[in-house]
Amino acid sequence: MQTSGSADRRAQLAGNLQRVHDRISTACADVGRDPGEITLVVVTKTFPASDVALLADLGVTDVGENRDQEAAAKAQACADLRLRWHFVGQLQTNKARSVVAYADLVHSVDRGRLVTALDQATARSGRTTRLGVLVQVNLDGVPDRGGAEPGEVGALADQIAASDQLDLGGVMAVAPLGSEPARAFAELARTANRVRHDHPGAIAISAGMSADLEAAVAAGATHLRVGSGVLGRRPSSG
Ligand SMILES: *Cc1c(COP(=O)(O)O)cnc(C)c1O
Repeated sequence: MQTSGSADRRAQLAGNLQRVHDRISTACADVGRDPGEITLVVVTKTFPASDVALLADLGVTDVGENRDQEAAAKAQACADLRLRWHFVGQLQTNKARSVVAYADLVHSVDRGRLVTALDQATARSGRTTRLGVLVQVNLDGVPDRGGAEPGEVGALADQIAASDQLDLGGVMAVAPLGSEPARAFAELARTANRVRHDHPGAIAISAGMSADLEAAVAAGATHLRVGSGVLGRRPSSG
């Protein structure tokens, strides 16, 4: 029974993954981009480590999580799968030490205190690689949803670039609820250009989720964070 359940789930994930890859290919073709420039991060929050293992077997290389406790346990359970782990959720400074133990790229850096905490935690962790980070940009003016105000992004980028242990990868945003994603992603692209002007290596733009990945590809996204489009509807909000 268990085997057939897992075979069904594998087939379901394989079909969903194929549909998402087809959407990315079509979106790239529409704007003349190479799909090879785009990293698909499959956001596995609320889904079990067994799904992560199936995804790895289906060729997924990058997975994302938004809560440290859940991510730490899953990363440990999946340590032999050689995946890259992306932390995409709001992050408290007291979780920095835990996150640097498994994360390859933290997408949600939005304040100076968090830069300091991640830098110190990385130094103490015994990691052999620097920690990649993106500056999360708030595009809707509602501070509770996370992200630095566009006007604060330059100073945060400078702080990260000057840190010992962090690599400034670029910027990230979540499109505001109830507004046109294309407009939000265009603003993110302008912010990304300003950051790249000062820090030429900061080329990543993390934008686009299941509902709006086409708009993100059109606006130059390099990282798409897709959850429900691959895994199905989440059991709870998260
Ligand atoms: C959950 C989540 C996603 C994935 O959202 P879907 O709509 O399920 O694709 C992407 N980014 C962040 C920051 C998330 O928390």
